[in-house]
Amino acid sequence: MSTEVVATAAISAEQPQSPSAPTQQNTVTKVNLLGMSRPQLEQFFEDIGEKKFRAGQVMKWIHQFFVTDFAEMTNISGKLREKLEKLCEIKAPEVVHKNYSKDGTRKWVFRVGEGDGSLVETVLIPAEHRSGLRRTLCISSQVGCALDCSFCSTGKQGFQRDLTPDEIIGQLWVANYSYMEDVPVADRERSVTNVVMMGMGEPLLNYDAVLSSMRIMLDDFAYGMSKRRVTLSTSGVVPKIDQLVKDIDVALAISLHAPNDELRNELVPINKKYPLAQLIAACQRYIAKDGNESSRKHVTIEYVMLDGVNDHPEHAQQMIKLLKNLPSKINLIPFNPFPHAPYGRSSRNRILSFQKTLSDAGFVCTIRQTRGDDIDAACGQLVGQVADRTRRAEQWKKKVAQQNEIMRSQG
Ligand code: SF4
Repeated sequence: MSTEVVATAAISAEQPQSPSAPTQQNTVTKVNLLGMSRPQLEQFFEDIGEKKFRAGQVMKWIHQFFVTDFAEMTNISGKLREKLEKLCEIKAPEVVHKNYSKDGTRKWVFRVGEGDGSLVETVLIPAEHRSGLRRTLCISSQVGCALDCSFCSTGKQGFQRDLTPDEIIGQLWVANYSYMEDVPVADRERSVTNVVMMGMGEPLLNYDAVLSSMRIMLDDFAYGMSKRRVTLSTSGVVPKIDQLVKDIDVALAISLHAPNDELRNELVPINKKYPLAQLIAACQRYIAKDGNESSRKHVTIEYVMLDGVNDHPEHAQQMIKLLKNLPSKINLIPFNPFPHAPYGRSSRNRILSFQKTLSDAGFVCTIRQTRGDDIDAACGQLVGQVADRTRRAEQWKKKVAQQNEIMRSQG
């Protein structure tokens, strides 16, 4: 990371906390503009004695033309460009690995932070849709995750830290730029059509950074995405769902995975704190009471299909009861086993029969297509070959080995 002596007055109090924050008196790291929302950028320009409207211009260069060199920002005076060059940088997280699948799926592993840093993954999944080609980017919000859902490989890493806004929006920037690298600046356009905050981490436990990043996604001076095409997926942090309603209008998905508290306590342990009745009530409050323009007309229910665990006919019946008063669409996700996973994937027939029960009861119920298998990009494999960084992963392996040993000794 480049560091030089600049006037500390250049750093706005509104600036998001990031690795770019000042580290010593009179010696500051250049300010990374990538993760700044428009109000933050406007404040920054005022703080350096420039007009606020420069914020919109610079945002367009960064997020619509994927320019990182101030010299290329041709509608900005040479003097200001020089000033920005001294004070700022536009820096996405470092890509340490990228892999593009034959089916169009793309995966990146980013290093975030200083030194060896930590690794996070981002996956882009293309799909034909009646409205045209969709490119959906699954974005991470934390390094690891504290919630330890029992079917999730990310949870096995434990929690390391929250991502900063520039690290979150940087994933979207890199994915878009991957289609634009060889395109002349004037002809560049955004390629990612949809975003789901469904990668590593629980986004509602990194609330401020995620909110700020989603605001950049929706901003017409940045990605200008439709609010219906930005989805936040949560395992059920109830108070933050209520907060989200007040702060932004985006689509909501719930990682449900179990239709009763007993099973959900086991699969999604945060359920012990916010049981299903509270979660469903929060979802009902999330649904907009006004206007058709809102993205909050229904909630998407994510349900991973675990062989013999949550895929019995009575589970489907429990789902019908649980969701009967909640406008919702259900997405069944065939489980992708990872090394030492304690579960297997439900059979195709089992998944189809589960879907039929829900569809017959009037729910829109889809089955997620597994994609990117040749690059370990499917859901649940996000950590892939990333090194285990906590002792919890080791403990987990030991526990599985012990269980295997007991099963072997029992014949
Ligand atoms: S499923 Fe989501 S909330 Fe649960 S451990 Fe994995 S990343 Fe965390």
